[in-house]
Amino acid sequence: MTVRRRRVVLATTNRHKAREIASILAPFGLEVEVPERLPEVVEDGDTFEANALKKARSAARATGRAAMADDSGLVVAALGGEPGVRSARYAGEDATDEANNRKLLDELARRGLADPAAAFVCHAVLVAPDGTVLATAAGRVEGTIRGPARGSNGFGYDPLFHHVSARHPAPGLRFAELSAADKDAISHRGRAFRAIGEAVAALPDGAL
Ligand code: IMP
Repeated sequence: MTVRRRRVVLATTNRHKAREIASILAPFGLEVEVPERLPEVVEDGDTFEANALKKARSAARATGRAAMADDSGLVVAALGGEPGVRSARYAGEDATDEANNRKLLDELARRGLADPAAAFVCHAVLVAPDGTVLATAAGRVEGTIRGPARGSNGFGYDPLFHHVSARHPAPGLRFAELSAADKDAISHRGRAFRAIGEAVAALPDGAL
């Protein structure tokens, strides 16, 4: 089968996410283009899907092209779903990953919670230049939260996320201890964007 090569705008300011998404979509012939400047988007949606749509539609409006975006985060059931859609700013606006991780461990310690179940969740969308949804997909990966932090790969809460995927050749490691390819193979983002890649491959020529 010949893979058609296509370029798609990706709306993100997170270079770690951009790198992961580019690798995940490459086998589908999709090349990711991250515009240097995009209008700022207030991520005030109640769901990952609402925020992903808002980011993709804003980028499509600004560029006049089809655009993709994702919204993702960590969901800890014992914390009522927190940090959830506020994952990037859990410890405050412009919080560093280290500050967010510290806050998460503090909140768990305050409640006497050890090794609570957690999941990374990602919602990915692709919209046409006029904002019509062309593809939408969610991905999820289960694990638990463990401190202290371990590993130096990845980003965000990866050093605390102890994944429990039985399918993985190296179960029991933190996400930050996995290679980029091993993380992509089981991650929430890998699952969501592979579904987007498949949907795009099925679109007719000229749809993007
Ligand atoms: P977004 O850029 O609004 O989607 O926010 C994503 C935030 O969720 C990141 O800043 C991280 O705190 C967290 N997050 C999402 N995906 C991951 C991941 O793959 N590893 C670690 N943290 C993640």
